[in-house]
Amino acid sequence: MAQQTSRLKDKQDCACGCGLFGTPRKRPEGHIRGCACPRCRGQRNRAKGDAKARKARKALGIGGANTRHEELWGGPIRLEVKAGAQVRPVFTAYLKTEIQSEQHRAMGDPRPFAMIAMPDGTSDGLIVMRLSQFAKLTGIDPE
Ligand SMILES: [Zn+2]
Ligand SMILES: [Zn+2]
Repeated sequence: MAQQTSRLKDKQDCACGCGLFGTPRKRPEGHIRGCACPRCRGQRNRAKGDAKARKARKALGIGGANTRHEELWGGPIRLEVKAGAQVRPVFTAYLKTEIQSEQHRAMGDPRPFAMIAMPDGTSDGLIVMRLSQFAKLTGIDPE
């Protein structure tokens, strides 16, 4: 983006009345950067989710439509990238398990690691793997 040539807009109060003062953004219209209203938060979270999805797609070498709707991605599996707090426990459990496994890994065992999550009362488990390890396992060539 050309910063010098972009027309400078007058600073103003945030449209939501939160008290922030600065250069208004286009979306949501008239809100100031850093605004914490629900609309601005929602948009930031979406942008964050999109960035994560792009990263995941790249790490897995998946082409397809550049969209936040992961079901439209090409590739052999349907994916849903979750970036929010609700999946933090999954990540934490994985990291702990990975450390444990690393401690028991035989010297020179190059195999990728996966955690299988099978809580009480479940018979089908979940495989949790690092994207990089999954790419290696499947021979996917990251873009
Ligand atoms: Zn505001
Ligand atoms: Zn706002």
